Amino acid sequence: MSLATETITTLRRRLDAGEITSADIIRDVAAAIDAQNPEIGAYLSWDTAAALAESTSSIPGPLSGIPVAIKDNINVTGQPCTCGSRILAENYRAPYDATSITQLRAAGAIPFGRLNMDEFAMGSSTENSALGITRNPRDLSRIPGGSSGGSAAAVASHTAIAALGSDTGGSIRQPAALCGVVGVKPTYGRVSRFGLVAFASSLDQIGTLTQTVEDSALLLNHLCGYDPRDSTSLDTPVPDFTALLGRDIKGLRIGLPKEYFISGIHPAVTAATDAAIKQLESLGAHIQEISLPHTEAGVSTYYVLAPAEASTNLARFDGVRYGHRTASPADLLDHYMSSRAEGFGPEVKRRILLGTYVLSSGYYDAYYLKAQRARTLISRDFDQAFQKVDLIISPTTPSPAHKLGELKNNPLQAYLEDIFTIPANLAGLPAMSVPAGFALEDGKKLPIGLQFIARPLDEATMLSAAHAFEQAAQIR
Ligand code: GLN
Repeated sequence: MSLATETITTLRRRLDAGEITSADIIRDVAAAIDAQNPEIGAYLSWDTAAALAESTSSIPGPLSGIPVAIKDNINVTGQPCTCGSRILAENYRAPYDATSITQLRAAGAIPFGRLNMDEFAMGSSTENSALGITRNPRDLSRIPGGSSGGSAAAVASHTAIAALGSDTGGSIRQPAALCGVVGVKPTYGRVSRFGLVAFASSLDQIGTLTQTVEDSALLLNHLCGYDPRDSTSLDTPVPDFTALLGRDIKGLRIGLPKEYFISGIHPAVTAATDAAIKQLESLGAHIQEISLPHTEAGVSTYYVLAPAEASTNLARFDGVRYGHRTASPADLLDHYMSSRAEGFGPEVKRRILLGTYVLSSGYYDAYYLKAQRARTLISRDFDQAFQKVDLIISPTTPSPAHKLGELKNNPLQAYLEDIFTIPANLAGLPAMSVPAGFALEDGKKLPIGLQFIARPLDEATMLSAAHAFEQAAQIR
């Protein structure tokens, strides 16, 4: 059996017992990529020789010798970092390691492979990548979700042991749900954003996609922590998340936001959520209804703030310092305009236009400022809810994976699908998705995810409840 199908936990045991080497794992992962990537398209690039070379000198540590695949918006020295965009695809090589990569390496892990994504992480299907589509390994005619679609598809197809992604409005949790893997977005500020190409800086967070909750906990032990190079990094102690797994959840108070049970949810999603509630109750948790009254404002608030920040962040891609440069511009203005027009795809252009509009002087108060106020109200909803409950659960997405192309020309519908994931980003809360069941469509089992949301910095409670659920539910 290929080592690519194993978890970090089992590989660790076998590495420590001297049964296998890191090079064995990398060779098996590379063979799995060779066999499956032409069909799935999770990886944009990978350098097996470099990873094998690194494996001989990997630092002894809890992640020693474990290859981890990386979303293509997190910088790894010398490797491409395309962000799924033509503007960075031609000639950009990362000149430094993101802090998350430095931390993984310090624990012995080996960054191996670059994963496809919606361009600059804008999207929920990976169809906005300028560099090719990624298919859902559970049904090749469907999207893997996005924007970390490559990360989720790689873990689900066993072409990666584990992966890093980024989550601005759901980009780790949503593809994790649609591909049937575990996806964790930590508290805003928990994992350094240094070296993550910025989309919306007040919302972006790096996190994990893995086969099991335990594997995510293992990675987060090393990814979380203070970084002076990120001004929003939190200087608070990081518990040993794995040591806290296995705690029983008797008496844990779990809230079900009544506003999340809207019409239009796929019946299989409702059924899986109901089953999860029963499962958690049988484990001793107390489930109670709560209210997050400003839920409805979440999507519109996000789609003002995220584009506003994106339009500012993406101003740096002007063809002068790096990125695509137009061939023979007439003058300086044409240089900027043509480089950007040729380099960015339609969704990125849409966001830049939206963002510039809501920030423009005549509209700033009506849109940007109003959205900031709505954001505050959404955060307060959570503060109040967390006085009554320890955790909140909901479906991760309203429906299982759509067919490729189904929402491609309907951005508004696609935006609305982020309804359950966006609030945690607006409030900076830790949130994760765990497999909770399947929808049967065309004879295929399409994964459904259950979302857990926790208090700021309380990843430990979230991970241990998710772990208890995962162990009891045994969704496969
Ligand atoms: N789907 C959302 C968007 O398009 C979220 C993306 C993300 O989390 N990066 O912006």
